[in-house]
Amino acid sequence: MSSPTASATLDGAARAASAPLFARAAAVIPGGVNSPVRAFGSVGGTPVFMASAHGPYLVDTDDREYVDLICSWGPMILGHRHPAVLEAVRTALDAGTSFGTATEGEILLAEEIVARVAPVEKVRLVTSGTEATMSAIRLARGFTGRSKVVKFAGCYHGHVDALLAAAGSGLATFALPDTPGVTGAQAADTVVLPYNDLDAVARVFAEQGAEIACVITEAAPGNMGAVPPLPGFNAGLLELCRRHGALFVSDEVMTGFRAGRDGWYGRDRVAADLFTFGKVMGGGFPAAAFGGRSDVMDRLAPVGPVYQAGTLAGNPVATAAGLATLRHCTDEVYERLEAVSATIGSAVSDALSAEGVAHVLQYSGTMFSVFFSSRAVRDYDDVRASEAFRYRAFFHAMLRQGVYLPPSPFEAWFVSAAHDDRAVDRIVAALPQAARAAAGAVPPAV
Ligand code: PLP
Repeated sequence: MSSPTASATLDGAARAASAPLFARAAAVIPGGVNSPVRAFGSVGGTPVFMASAHGPYLVDTDDREYVDLICSWGPMILGHRHPAVLEAVRTALDAGTSFGTATEGEILLAEEIVARVAPVEKVRLVTSGTEATMSAIRLARGFTGRSKVVKFAGCYHGHVDALLAAAGSGLATFALPDTPGVTGAQAADTVVLPYNDLDAVARVFAEQGAEIACVITEAAPGNMGAVPPLPGFNAGLLELCRRHGALFVSDEVMTGFRAGRDGWYGRDRVAADLFTFGKVMGGGFPAAAFGGRSDVMDRLAPVGPVYQAGTLAGNPVATAAGLATLRHCTDEVYERLEAVSATIGSAVSDALSAEGVAHVLQYSGTMFSVFFSSRAVRDYDDVRASEAFRYRAFFHAMLRQGVYLPPSPFEAWFVSAAHDDRAVDRIVAALPQAARAAAGAVPPAV
């Protein structure tokens, strides 16, 4: 392996190879990226093109090394190129890459998930978190014979048409699509409510309970930054669902197997009817799942009438990577994630406090983020009221010093078990300069 240049020398000019790559990419890929946040739209500047990764580091096309604080948006919980995962993938590759038949690997991965998350009796493997939530909602509708879905503003469940409605504040906003291409009809059965507001949910159930198929929520949101549920919020949702005959869908695509061995479920023990998983359980490959009570899951084809399928579902290479990852997610791994996220979070806080920058550090399990706000952030309105403009300056100061943060103020930060003291020290050393940059940031002219 080449030895990447010391991160301290990083500056925009040093990332010379990324600019022409971005121009080439933009000619053939819309916006030059295959997922919008990668384009640096919220922070400005040219996205950095990565060439390789190892442990807690990313290495760009100029051979510069960065401490990675996105971990592929969650999957790389063991760090990059973990030897056991690579070995499992190589073994799977040698046996063939896709059969389109049943395989034993699928059983092993399903058994591992079922063993970890007690309320999950059966799972169906899919290829993305989007597919998992889309299928869970279809199943909830098929099972209950009802059409409405309740979701929360600021919660992201993938780019499922009916869930791309995150409409504004208010007690019970009937959803308007957030994007062209989603019709009013597709969003009409979605009810968007403010996060952490159980009264709003109770009111909607009182008015329309007989039409509500399910409530879906991120088990502990990370997609508006880390905004954890208030104590009792998830349990209250389950209770309202039970009372009105709706299903409760806990989206653990991010938190699943990251917040702990059994995900966020292990923290609040709220036994949802259906769970969705992705990210960690794919070990860096396209694998995701939805699962839950047997009587609900058995409404899926081929046993039941609710159709759901996938050419590459349960792909043997992805399944092997996911299984190897989960098997190595031991208690020690979770202890390390806790310790590292706490250390980085308090170092961020100390650095910002030293510069007099108002902020709050929030955790959704081992995911965390900083809000430039003087009070706790509980919902999407609070998120939007924070001084997000400071993040741009903070982000670029960290990037220049070789720390790769999420290129958006509204995303969670992810660590891995490979984040050793050297990696953490590099982050901590970069913080004073980034905090000064955040302190000096000015709001954009309106
Ligand atoms: N649900 C949650 C909570 C997510 O965070 C995401 C993606 O970030 C998804 C669903 C969609 O997953 P994917 O990007 O694999 O489609």
